[in-house]
Amino acid sequence: MSTISFTKRAIGILMALALLLMVFVEPLGVRAESDRAEVMSKSTSKVQVTYKNRIRTYYHALKKVYVNRKKKSLSKYPIFKKSGTYMGPAEILFGNGELGTAYDGNSKRVAIRLNNTLIIMHNGKKKAYVNGKKRSLGAPAMLVNYKKSGKTMWVVPIKSVCNILGLDYHLIKGNILITKATDQESSSDTTETETATAPANNVPSQKIIVCLDAGHGGSDSGASAYGFIEKNMNLAIVLAAKRYFDQDPHFQVYYTRLTDVLPSLNARCAFANQKNADFFISVHINSYKKTSSGTETLYNASRVQKTAKNGLNSYELASWMQTWAATATGFGNRGLVNRPKLIVLKNTKMPACLIEYGFISNPSEAKRMNMNLGNYGLALYNGVVALMKNKGRYR
Ligand SMILES: [Zn+2]
Repeated sequence: MSTISFTKRAIGILMALALLLMVFVEPLGVRAESDRAEVMSKSTSKVQVTYKNRIRTYYHALKKVYVNRKKKSLSKYPIFKKSGTYMGPAEILFGNGELGTAYDGNSKRVAIRLNNTLIIMHNGKKKAYVNGKKRSLGAPAMLVNYKKSGKTMWVVPIKSVCNILGLDYHLIKGNILITKATDQESSSDTTETETATAPANNVPSQKIIVCLDAGHGGSDSGASAYGFIEKNMNLAIVLAAKRYFDQDPHFQVYYTRLTDVLPSLNARCAFANQKNADFFISVHINSYKKTSSGTETLYNASRVQKTAKNGLNSYELASWMQTWAATATGFGNRGLVNRPKLIVLKNTKMPACLIEYGFISNPSEAKRMNMNLGNYGLALYNGVVALMKNKGRYR
């Protein structure tokens, strides 16, 4: 090998290395530069928080935000940027009702709801649960303690949350603006649980046809534990709901059973189909482990389109009923579960869902459910009314 060719090769290798270095370093360089520019323009644009037991510094602090055109001060808990995403205090942005949203946070998770969309986020997790389905966020939700004010807050990726809830998000001249979507329907009241919604005086011309199904019955007890029996609890919820439906002329409700009998699963479907029900709701209690907990609603994702009826589909029905049931129980919200093989969700020809209020296998949930079956029946009725109001079918 001649000296010249060796030198040529060495230069070639060096150049390739330099190129590689540039490719890798450039994005970092660009980011560092824009950070520095922000820091220089505003010396206070740094935010320090404790997150997962470590003090961390973030940049691009914003100390105000516009919610529905109203200016809000965030000096105690500024917005900051993480992974290129603006993160803001969930309770301040979404908890004050200006946007029609509701906020709920505890040490494990943060929940934000608008109408029938419920987002549940966990600390440090980039995946959120939206009505029980996993969705990716721009950055993970974080439970942080702001160093300067000592405030502990859930901060969430603002744009992702707005997108999921259908809120308008704009970043204009360094200001974040969050507004209700312009074409949003006036939201119906979905918070009352103590009192039944008063039926309107005018009798509607076309009744809403509902089929309510108390799960199990007769020789099939369903799950049982600690002296509680699922079939009886299901029936108690349905009978409680019946007391409210009976007084409301908007509805014609059909019940698969009102006593301790066992219609077959296919007979329940055939009954709902024959009555031409607008939707079908089955009432159950879950069972698994002693430590299992929470409320969930099952639906059939493969039949959402096929069974849609009068402007309602089973996904909407399930989401709506889940929100009301979970609010009534106060247990964890497990969201929606796709169960395409369940007979009552497969052979019914209308939107259908199956509510699992809580776990009978969990002693504290079993006890609490048993004391509140009447409330769950009322919440079921109120949920259906709210849904029909939202659909313009209940006036
Ligand atoms: Zn059951």
